[in-house]
Order: sequence, then structure tokens, then C-alpha cells
Amino acid sequence: MKIALCGNPNVGKTTLFNRLTRSDEPVGNWHGVTVDVRTKKSSRGVFISDLPGAYSLTARTAEERITRDNILFGDYDVIVYVAEVNNLRRNLYMFMQLAELSKPAVLVVNMMDEARGAIDLKLLSRRLGVPVVGTSVKDKSQKASILEAAESALKKKPIAPDYVRDSAVNQFSAASVGKKISGLTDAFVALKIMERDEFIADKAGYQLKDCGDCCACDVDLPAKLRYGYIDRILSGVAERSSVPQSTLKIDKVALGKLALPVFLFVMAAVFVITFELGKPISALLAGLIERAQGLVLQTDMPPWVVALLADGVVGGVGAVLAFLPQVVLIFLLTALLQDSGYMSRVAFLTDDFFKKFGLNGRAAFSMVLGLGCSATAVLSSRGISGEGVRRRAAFATPFCPCSARLAVFTAIAAYFGLSGFAVAAMYILGFAVALVVLKIMQAIRREESDDEFIMEMPPYRVPSAKRVFSVALSNVLAFISRVGSVVLGLSVIMWVLCNFSMHDGFTGGVENSIMCTLCTVVAPIFAPLGFGSWRATAALISGIAAKETVVSVIGALGGMGEVFASRAAAVSFMIFTTLYVPCVATLSAIAKENGIKSALLSAAVHTLVAYACALLYYQSAVWYAVDKFWVITAWASVIAVIVAISAASIVRGRTKSLRAKT
Ligand code: GDP
Ligand code: MG
Repeated sequence: MKIALCGNPNVGKTTLFNRLTRSDEPVGNWHGVTVDVRTKKSSRGVFISDLPGAYSLTARTAEERITRDNILFGDYDVIVYVAEVNNLRRNLYMFMQLAELSKPAVLVVNMMDEARGAIDLKLLSRRLGVPVVGTSVKDKSQKASILEAAESALKKKPIAPDYVRDSAVNQFSAASVGKKISGLTDAFVALKIMERDEFIADKAGYQLKDCGDCCACDVDLPAKLRYGYIDRILSGVAERSSVPQSTLKIDKVALGKLALPVFLFVMAAVFVITFELGKPISALLAGLIERAQGLVLQTDMPPWVVALLADGVVGGVGAVLAFLPQVVLIFLLTALLQDSGYMSRVAFLTDDFFKKFGLNGRAAFSMVLGLGCSATAVLSSRGISGEGVRRRAAFATPFCPCSARLAVFTAIAAYFGLSGFAVAAMYILGFAVALVVLKIMQAIRREESDDEFIMEMPPYRVPSAKRVFSVALSNVLAFISRVGSVVLGLSVIMWVLCNFSMHDGFTGGVENSIMCTLCTVVAPIFAPLGFGSWRATAALISGIAAKETVVSVIGALGGMGEVFASRAAAVSFMIFTTLYVPCVATLSAIAKENGIKSALLSAAVHTLVAYACALLYYQSAVWYAVDKFWVITAWASVIAVIVAISAASIVRGRTKSLRAKT
């Protein structure tokens, strides 16, 4: 038997999927956690697929399209539709479309532990004609009852909603639908065409025309019919449920007058905790790594082996591992924010702001995720509605400094005695550049941003420690395994390139090494930026593979003092690192989402922008003899934001006056 799990976002599908298949896919109290279909085998030879969340089979986002295609044409025996007990009315909207399709289905009413009032599932089951199972994560017998219900659903068809016989629907399906779409009912196709769903109209060979005031084209009729029917079905089944009091109270503050201070406070808290708490632990780790290096140096193996182990392996990997505390903290905190439900408020609050830049509030998720890992952030952009918005978000998110770049910042800041402001300024710079680039893209393309999307506002939940830790742990393990594989491999390769010369083999020094020869050719390009040494070039080149290695290569090449001639040069390098070409993993994610051309363009734009910003900083630093770099960076960022925002309002003002004229 093949089962598809579907439903609105945030109803607990993935949690259920993990239960049914004993797996450990990420869950979260916000959008876009599941962006792809995952199929796994459960016991008793049942295959279960977890589909991305959707509100309707009229797909508006890429992930909704995946779900629609799977439900309409996928090879599933039973659809297990998950709904949230406190949101049945809205959740049943998509279920109605399954009933129109006459697909064998089970209705799972989830989160029974949070039910705010009694509910008569038996009556609901009788009215819908499908098995209805009430479940919650706290319920251990969940699995057996769902599989049992799925078996019995195979044998019966859901009751077709009475509105499929509505005269308008009938008239429409008889008169206008030319071709039959195999696997779909006439009523479903008719309703979709009435909604002006281009995908279905196309499949049915039906030309959607502007037919003015023809009565059959009431686009809102299908929704009215469905909700009317749902209200009749639910009467006597469930007491009217509302948003929990606590959530209303918190939102009064978090979305009210204090919204901005609360938002800024939360963001500032995330940063302070990450950096201040991380610092002492980092120092402790660095000490341990130095000890390990010392131990290796005492062994009596051939000199090149000792050097390889001490510098290439322990030194290279250690330099990155020293930043593990910060990485752990940032992952823990983002997991906490997601799980509590606050992240959805962030999307709501930032929606207007991001619209000015051709994005929408859901892009805020991607940007925040980008602080962890750009590649993940790019993949998460799939949850954003609107093709253009999605592409732009994927293009701009890598400007938001990822945790690997954080390692570079902290290392440089620590060595050159820069304050936390320094690191914060890099983040501001990253975001500001992302916004400016978006603004320019908007001006070139003149695309309208897709301004309508349904925003999920899940109730606040006390984050479950277990879940937060498991989300953070899986991210941290991914980081460590990257350090163990990519970083280890690259630092060994870099070490070999740096310790062997073209002619003399192992020399034990970087002078005349292969790396030196290669990078000396490229290095002059970076001279105007202040770091025209071959060592800095080597670090940057290794960073294309993985940003984590930038620090380890600097370590292997003699450390900060050796690589950078001055503090201004190091800061310029930081700026360049913040903005230049994203790592290979991110580029391949962009290629996967937007095509290879977009990935190449992204690499080029990032590098050019990075060059321009570092040049601007370094030249002005030299000119004014200022190396309090954050003064300049903060200043430049503020100007960038002001320019972008005013440009936005000018554009908006113009479109408004245009509208007034026409
Ligand atoms: P999906 O978007 O439908 O895949 O939903 P997830 O499985 O990612 O879960 C969304 C949120 O609801 C997570 O924070 C879950 O921990 C939480 N959740 C899932 N099932 C239940 C449940 O039965 N009861 C409660 N209280 N919370 C649940
Ligand atoms: Mg999910």
C-alpha cells in the first residue's frame, strides 16, 4: 500500500511521518520545513510519503505544486489528510478538493492534546464518508490506528460533497470542458476552471478567456460552495474554537506597538548570546587543540608526517572546530525561535519591508536561515510563493553571512582586537548589500511582487527541549561531518600544496611551494584591496569549496600576522569574505532551484560586489588613515539602506500616481 501524507503547513505531518517510519526528518513550527517529497517504508510493507504543506490544490508556490502534482497524478492508494483540531474549518478546505476528486482518503485530526473543546469524530466520519482518526504526538497507538484506517479507506469512497451537483458546476462541466483529464472527476475539473486555475484549464484544453460578466465565471463560487458545505458538516461536530488566550495576549505585544523593539531585542539577544557565551568556550577549545598539536610534535615520525598531522590535520580542522560553540548556539537559538512560533511573526512583521524589495515576509525565513547555512537557505526559498520572488530570494540570501563566515570574522576580530561591533557590522553589510542588489534587480526586471499570500500564524508553543535539541543536533552534526570530510580533505590538500614545491618535493616551508607559485600569479588582483599576498589569495580560493577552510588555511600559512600586513587589510579581507562567491554547495543549490545560468551569474555578481565593497573600504581607510573600520562600514550600510528605501518609496509613489491617472 502507498500512502501520501498531506495537509496544510504546520499541522504535524512530518512529526507523524517520523512516527510512522521511525525516521528523523526536521519538523518546525513554521513554513517551509518540508520542501520536498520524502518516501519511506513503514512496517507491514506500507510506503509512506510526506508531501510539503499546501492550502489548496490550486498551487501558488513551488512546494504547493509538488503537492498538487503528487495528489492529482501520483501513484498513491490512500491519501492521509492531516488536519489540526483547532483549525478544522480552514483545514477542511483542501480536504474538500480531495472529496471532489473522490480519492480514497483518511482524515487525521491531529493535535488532540491541544483541543479546545469536545469534538465528535464519529459524526464527522459519517458525514464525510471517510475514516477519521484523532491523534496527537502524545498518543502511542497513533501508528496502528492510522494504518488500520488507511486499510479500511481502500474499500470505500468518500461521499461526494453535495455542491458538485450545484447547477453552476453542472452547467460548467457539461458545456465547457472539452477533454477529460484521466484520473480526475468532471466536477473537480469544472470547479478548478471556475476558479480560473491555469494548470487544469491547460490540461483540459480549455481556453480561459476574459468573459466579463458571464455568470458561470464567478471565481469565488467554488470557495463559497466549499466553505458553505464545511460549515454544514461541522455543525454539531465541533464547538467553535478560537485562538488561545495566551497567544492573543503575547501577540498584542509582539505584533502591536512594541513589535519593533521586541523584534530588535530578540535579534540582539540572539547575537549577544551567540558571541559572548561562545567566546570563552571557544578559547577553551583552542587551548585543547594547541595541546593536541604539541603532542603530535613530540612523536618521532618522519618530519613531513609530523608536519602534516600537526599543521594540516590538527591545525586545519582545529581552527574550524574552535568555532563550534558559536555554531551550536546559533543553531539552538534559531531552532528555539522556530519552534516557539515567533519566527512566523517575524515573517508577518517584515512582510511590508521585504515587499519594498520585491520579496515578501516569507523571505525573512530564508534570510534568517542563511545565518546558519546559505545552501540550506537557498533550498528553503522553495517555500516562498511567486516565481519571481522565489528566484530573487535564492539569489540574494547568500549575501547574509553564514556560520562558516562567522568563523572567519571571529578569528580576525580576535587576532586584531576588534569589538563585537566589527562582526555585527559584517552582518549589517551583508543584509544591506542583499537589499541593494534586490532593489537593482527589481528596477531592471520591473516585476510586480506577488503580494498575496496566506500567512500561517501558529499559536505560541513552549518549545520542546527535546525537539529543539534534536534540530540543533542534526545541524551541528552536519557541520561536524563537513569539517571531518570537506574541511579535512581540503586542509590536507592545501597543506600538500603549501609544503611541496614543484621541483624539490617536501620543503617544509611555504616559500616556493606549489601554492605559492600558483597564487603569486593571481594575487596582484587583490593588491588594491590591501591583501595582495599569495597567502590571502590561497585562503580565498579554498573558501570557494567551503568557507570554513578560509580560517584553517590562514592558520596553516603562518597565521593572521603573516597573512595580513595591517588591520585595515584584514578588515578589507573580512568584507570580501562576507560577500564573495558562495561555496560550491550553495551554488549547486542555486543551480538546482534556478538553473545553472543563475548560479554562474550569482557567482559573478557576488564576487564583483565583494571586490567593489572591499576596494571602497580599503582605499578610504588608507586615504583617511582610519582603521576603525566599523565606523565606515556602519556608515556605508546606513547609507545603502537609506538609498534603497527611498528608491523604494519613489518607485511606489510613481506606480501610485500611475494608477491614479489610469
Ligand atoms: P508539518 O508542517 O505538517 O510537517 O508539521 P510538523 O510535523 O513540522 O509540526 C509542526 C509543529 O507542530 C511542530 O512544532 C511539532 O512539534 C508540533 N506538533 C506536531 N504534532 C503535534 C501534536 O500532536 N500536538 C502538539 N501539541 N504539537 C504537535
Ligand atoms: Mg513538514
